[in-house]
Amino acid sequence: MRWFDFVRKGFCRALLFGLFLVTGVSSSDAADRTIYLTFDDGPLPGTENILSVLRQENVPAALFMVGLHVETIPGGRDLLAEAKAIPLVTVGNHSYSHANNRYRNYYSNTDAVVADMLHANQVLGLVPKVHARLPGRDVFRLPTVSKEDLSINVAQWEREWLDYELVAEAGFYLYGWDFEWVHSDDGKPVQSVDRLLSEIDHLFGYGRFVQPGKMILLMHDEMFQDKFDGQENLRTLIRQLRQRGYRFGDIRTYAP
Ligand SMILES: [Zn+2]
Repeated sequence: MRWFDFVRKGFCRALLFGLFLVTGVSSSDAADRTIYLTFDDGPLPGTENILSVLRQENVPAALFMVGLHVETIPGGRDLLAEAKAIPLVTVGNHSYSHANNRYRNYYSNTDAVVADMLHANQVLGLVPKVHARLPGRDVFRLPTVSKEDLSINVAQWEREWLDYELVAEAGFYLYGWDFEWVHSDDGKPVQSVDRLLSEIDHLFGYGRFVQPGKMILLMHDEMFQDKFDGQENLRTLIRQLRQRGYRFGDIRTYAP
């Protein structure tokens, strides 16, 4: 080996090691930890509180809305318009009927599922490509990301996979979620904000998300229906996450 080959190899090794160090450092950097706030099932009585906090805190979020609620909830159309007027808020499609909460039955009819999603586009005033979340299913169908709902069994998936494909083909980007702030039947959050924060920290340490470094957090509108507690919980969550160095991501840039 000639001396300059030796030097060149040594240099390459040093460069690689340097790269390793750089990437090693950046992947543990809090700035790479992005959280996507998502709220399902509005417009409902929590929507006003959610929007108010999002405006105050100036953070992006996606609200996956139900067409039927726009038409039946008092002030539903105004809440929809209010959400759409906030530049950092993405109004997404969460179906027209929310499957009437009978998911197996809903997904047994592919044409009806596609029609229900398209009906919601009309009510919500959305044009393709539409950011969407299927009712009751943690499914991703994005140009660069595809993931199945691991909570349903294979036999059920075989009955439903065509629904997901054809909905996506009809002009939808489908988003599931990485983690949920769970609520009980009365709408109250199950985890305290502190508990949720430590779970989020833990999950980022463990790092098993659909996209590395990106957590889509699922919440439901009804958790925020109490004007005081609802706003307070959401505000505290956002401020604490920010203080811990997390970034808030816009769902429109989740999978470019
Ligand atoms: Zn829902």
